[in-house]
Amino acid sequence: MRIVNKGLVVRLYPDECMVREFNQNIGNARFTWNMLLEEYQKTYELFKQHGYNRLKCNMTTFNTMLTMLKKWYPFLYLSESSSLQQVYRDLLNAFKKFFNEGAGFPCFKSKKHPKQSFRIQNNNNIKIKDNILVLPKIGKVYYRTSKEYKRLLNSNEIKINNVTIKKSNGKFYTVFNIEMPVESFEKTFLSVGIDLGLETLATLSNELKITNFDLTYEEKMIKKYQRILSRKNYDSNRYRKVQKTYWKWIDKKNNKIKDAYHKLSHYLTKVYDIICMEDLDIKEMFQDSDLSSKLQRIGLASLVDKIKYKAEWYDKVFIQISRWFPSSKNCHNCGYYNKNLKRDEREWTCPECGTHHDRDANAAKNIQMEGLRIYHENLVNLRDWGDSTVILEALASTVREVRILELYSSR
Ligand SMILES: [Zn+2]
Repeated sequence: MRIVNKGLVVRLYPDECMVREFNQNIGNARFTWNMLLEEYQKTYELFKQHGYNRLKCNMTTFNTMLTMLKKWYPFLYLSESSSLQQVYRDLLNAFKKFFNEGAGFPCFKSKKHPKQSFRIQNNNNIKIKDNILVLPKIGKVYYRTSKEYKRLLNSNEIKINNVTIKKSNGKFYTVFNIEMPVESFEKTFLSVGIDLGLETLATLSNELKITNFDLTYEEKMIKKYQRILSRKNYDSNRYRKVQKTYWKWIDKKNNKIKDAYHKLSHYLTKVYDIICMEDLDIKEMFQDSDLSSKLQRIGLASLVDKIKYKAEWYDKVFIQISRWFPSSKNCHNCGYYNKNLKRDEREWTCPECGTHHDRDANAAKNIQMEGLRIYHENLVNLRDWGDSTVILEALASTVREVRILELYSSR
């Protein structure tokens, strides 16, 4: 049992008055973000002219700036006050990523972006009563969700840290950021390597192939309504009517993807104790133009993400191996390096040992072995033998385990 952070998404049904409140809060959050960013940017440019490339930004600075902004723009007082503090927290995070992790400079937020949101900190003033969510300063709003979620939200088992009100494709949602206890999955003493791909979504080291789901119908409908939309007058009544249908199909497509990813990640974390995957540099792959549309469609990054956090929730091990590791080109049986293997070669035979390989299954097996090697190495380094039975059992299911086991016993 461990306490984990979860995001619980629930659909909201605000009345007209509440929609206005939400829109005001969303607009104020966006305005605050843009103003703080602009002020900071000006100062940053000035600093750069004088040879500094790092301008300190912290809570205190932004908080003072926010107080000033409120004086200049009184409509900011209409916002729930913690929601504006959340804005500079996010901005600080964005800057932290820019300065320390090589991310891009924070962007201005556009009114036209299809997703808009604001976040409220729970200072013991967010209440849930049955089907009603009571937000400080804003008021009551109906929500609808599954029986299980409703019971959870009304119980004492969870702690709500904050809630995000999100407007996406014309609908309102709230994301409850909660802390709750989660029961670990039973140990299965199995490990797996996973090769992610475009045609086949995932190939496991036991040669099980998980086919990609078919989105052609959803995509056809999205394209169709996009075409109709482009012929209508922007923001006319007819436009908005068609837009609703258009959004419906986008939601359908996204939900299908999300659902499939949740099921797959649940399955993998339930069945395997050690999950090894490649570290895909998604950004790099996007630059490859013919791959990009397909990759966008399947959004592999979010699948990896789900497996990663679920492994943590359910007390399993997740290992990511370097993307430079030649998983496809090595023969998993004898280690022969096939440097001439082309991108479109789906099958090949090893000239050294004669093993016939399915490209993806071979890659998955190599990923599994490399992952276990890393895991084992870390254990040796740490001298932490906590769950070593799991590894030994897991190793027994791989091909090259003999060598690692020998290495293990010789120490
Ligand atoms: Zn071979």
